Amino acid sequence: MKIEEITHQYRRDFSATLKCEGCNFEQALKGGYDDRNYHDNVIPTIPCKSCGKSRKDLGITHPPTPTKYQPWEVV
Ligand SMILES: [Zn+2]
Repeated sequence: MKIEEITHQYRRDFSATLKCEGCNFEQALKGGYDDRNYHDNVIPTIPCKSCGKSRKDLGITHPPTPTKYQPWEVV
């Protein structure tokens, strides 16, 4: 799943709409955290509720999602 749209963000906490690169299914993500670890390690393992495939299953590693804030920024 990739982030199609950030629907809400407060500091680094966010909600978003995710879209599957395999079947284009869209689903809501709640409780997201906007840092490198989340984008690089958590989102790639989120399975699509329609086809069951995650980014990892599909072999997609790019493009990486940029974070809104830099790691050293206090927000
Ligand atoms: Zn899918």
